[in-house]
Amino acid sequence: MANPLYDTLFGRHAGKSTVFLHLPDGATLTHDAFLRLAARIAHVLTDLGLKPGDRLAAQIEKSPEALAVYAACVQAGVVFLPLNTGYMGEEIRYFVENSGAKLLLCDATKAEALSPLAKDCGALIETLNGDGTGTLMEAAKSKPDSFGTVPRTADDLAAFLYTSGTTGRSKGAMLTQSNLLSNAQTLADYWHFTADDVLLHALPIFHTHGLFVATNTLLIAGGSMIFLPKFDLDQMIARLPQATTMMGVPTFYTRLLDDPRFDRDLTRHMRLFISGSAPLLAETHVQFEGRTGHRILERYGMTETNMNTSNPYDGERRAGTVGFPLPGVELKITDPATGATLPQGEIGQIEVRGPNVFKGYWQMPEKTAEELRADGFFITGDLGQVDSDGYVSIVGRNKDLIISGGYNIYPKEIELLLDDQPGVLESAVIGVPHPDFGETVVGILVPSPGAQPDLEAISAQMKASLARFKHPRKLVILPELPRNTMGKVQKKALRDQFGDLFT
Ligand code: ATP
Ligand code: MG
Repeated sequence: MANPLYDTLFGRHAGKSTVFLHLPDGATLTHDAFLRLAARIAHVLTDLGLKPGDRLAAQIEKSPEALAVYAACVQAGVVFLPLNTGYMGEEIRYFVENSGAKLLLCDATKAEALSPLAKDCGALIETLNGDGTGTLMEAAKSKPDSFGTVPRTADDLAAFLYTSGTTGRSKGAMLTQSNLLSNAQTLADYWHFTADDVLLHALPIFHTHGLFVATNTLLIAGGSMIFLPKFDLDQMIARLPQATTMMGVPTFYTRLLDDPRFDRDLTRHMRLFISGSAPLLAETHVQFEGRTGHRILERYGMTETNMNTSNPYDGERRAGTVGFPLPGVELKITDPATGATLPQGEIGQIEVRGPNVFKGYWQMPEKTAEELRADGFFITGDLGQVDSDGYVSIVGRNKDLIISGGYNIYPKEIELLLDDQPGVLESAVIGVPHPDFGETVVGILVPSPGAQPDLEAISAQMKASLARFKHPRKLVILPELPRNTMGKVQKKALRDQFGDLFT
């Protein structure tokens, strides 16, 4: 094939009048119309001088046109680099500079502020707004609606996706055509997606979850998506009856459960609910089944690898686990100090290998060498264990591991106990510097609405349930936990805030 990713995801739909996108206003966009839109954009990109292998950085609102920019990049051989819409000026400078992007695509409201920065970085600037207006589509109007697909090999780069920056500065993960293609194929099969599926899509499309896991999988299967600009509870409830499947981050599920309209009847016709990007509390899993009769399917992945593991479609979906390695993905648990594989059941670092694993971090050879072994295994930075049935569970991030007085403490064990205390909605456990122990444990509690957790009683309960070295030395109440746009708790921010409690 001339361009495996384009041909398999997009090209195969040429001329088809099947619906690809259901839009918020009730309108639809067919596969063919979407491809013609993408072709016009591809002309604009090449007329602007973008060549195969060049990067296009896009900080744009979610819209059909924004998704068509992704397709246009694939067709023109341009490397697509979507950016979180929450990033501000200097953050964007880092991405544009770091990636050497040739073109920065942004909202018209930001163009003035970003122009000098683009100029400094030698990037062109064009605009694309959430309603599809802007200079890009203005130029696209007069272009032909077919475009000669640029030949690419499976090993050519298709996208740079920057990691979420939960543990430090975002890293540009270089993803090849075959990284994306192999994973989309695997997921469509594993989760039984077909042309009859309608996915309720409220995720951002600047992240691997909404862009690749959702979009690529649906494109391979030939199904359609109800394409909502963001998670809006009323919209979700209104559109659920037209969907067969949904993908969400855990907060989508807790927010749906908070609404009494979300019940068995509303979800009766649904085939599948998938969760990922952050841990789904076992409690949410149980509550969801009680309310709807459906068991959420939890899976595990990351920017660098797309998806690695998934609970089974047909077998038991086990709460608190992320299921089994996907077909073609090898997973092992290793000793962080030596890299040796640990016996089954022990906690260690999760390493994965497979066609889904990225090529390395852009212009970070040292970081790449630290995390990507010569034999192809990628050290994910997550700690986990595999139970006797083969289910993988994630214990936390390596960087969040607390080492106190020489003992390893896994925050999740303490968080699960804290979450169960009266008046506690959720919790986060962090390690902070301590003069005697190196680090010590601090528990941060978010009260349930209207509740005032009794810190002394909770402290006493911790002492009764946990070995001494794991006792939180301090419990703190916060109205909410700092989260990034993917719903991930930012423990680094908490460590910065509470780092000097004992020093
Ligand atoms: P950075 O690498 O910049 O610190 P990040 O790791 O949060 O940010 P992403 O690639 O968006 O960036 O997220 C991948 C991480 O999300 C995984 O390494 C894992 O820690 C977490 N994750 C994904 N799915 C799950 C899940 N089902 N359960 C628990 N954690 C998950
Ligand atoms: Mg990461």
